[in-house]
Amino acid sequence: MRLTSKSTLDGIKTGYLPRKLTSIDNPEPLVGARPPTPLSLYRNNKKLNVTDISTKYCELLDFYDLRSGKKVETAAMAAGTVVHLALEKEAEKHLVKVTLPDTLKLSREEEMAKKFLDLIARLNAMLAGHAVREFYTFGLVDDCLITGYIDELGRGPDNSLIISDTKSRVKGTLPPVSQRLSAYHQLLVYHKLLLSMLHDSELAQSLPRLYEAFEVDPNRPFSNEFVIALENKYSSLSLIESRLRELLHKVAFKLNVSDEIQVSYRRSTGTNAGALIDTCRYIYDEQAFQELKEFSLQFWRGERDAIGVDPAERNKCRTCQWFDRCEWRATMDAAML
Ligand code: SF4
Repeated sequence: MRLTSKSTLDGIKTGYLPRKLTSIDNPEPLVGARPPTPLSLYRNNKKLNVTDISTKYCELLDFYDLRSGKKVETAAMAAGTVVHLALEKEAEKHLVKVTLPDTLKLSREEEMAKKFLDLIARLNAMLAGHAVREFYTFGLVDDCLITGYIDELGRGPDNSLIISDTKSRVKGTLPPVSQRLSAYHQLLVYHKLLLSMLHDSELAQSLPRLYEAFEVDPNRPFSNEFVIALENKYSSLSLIESRLRELLHKVAFKLNVSDEIQVSYRRSTGTNAGALIDTCRYIYDEQAFQELKEFSLQFWRGERDAIGVDPAERNKCRTCQWFDRCEWRATMDAAML
């Protein structure tokens, strides 16, 4: 087990080569017009995911994926999904979930209702003392809506809630620092979002933004079929929201969120797929979160370019789908000659 009280952002500042976003994305901006930001181009100015505001070993790779509009799922990612599903299935036995018929076609409001009902099931399980997985979380960070799923909310020795993430690995060793840092950064964001959900006034601000982003009217009535599937308990999203708020309030009153955050690394393939490699434990650090948030939002606001791999990790470029077209990789290789 590792316990690191404070992480550093030095790793992501190394190798930073600033270029203008306009030179990559918008070669001929209209005179006088502001170039579009990645937030408006790729996220419709609506919301970001937790992974969007966490660091990566290569930010540029994600940027190229965004521009191309398709993300290639690697064999390692697919194997990781299998590990996650197995863990989720194990945790699900404590959940009292609403089962909806597969044939039911859901409106946007009903899709959101499903998310909230899943959250309600998890909050009830948490109040009954169980660990839960795949906890939907959302909140505002610098007025930007961020959403994501917390891998696991477990219990510490003092009964506090501990946020954990699971990362799967083909190799039976811990990943390099850039990837460990990325996982730590995700946990910082999850911690921030969870606390904001448990805070009434912050929740009151983020919920309307969530509805706006998903184009949902909380007062629009559900279809008859959906109401029947919910055993006539709720007829609109606003009623489910009230129950959700009640439970979040109860959890905030009864349980503390630990400052300890942790990442479990597990094997993704082979006979011991799912086996624990190691757990890295950290302490939440508000200053590190603020630095991360600023650094990440600078990219999304178009104030800086995406950053490629650190030269020390350039071996990753060999398997990258953008190898032939990547300017960063070509510049790095030329510098090595
Ligand atoms: S080739 Fe290397 S630097 Fe370029 S996007 Fe791929 S991983 Fe990043």
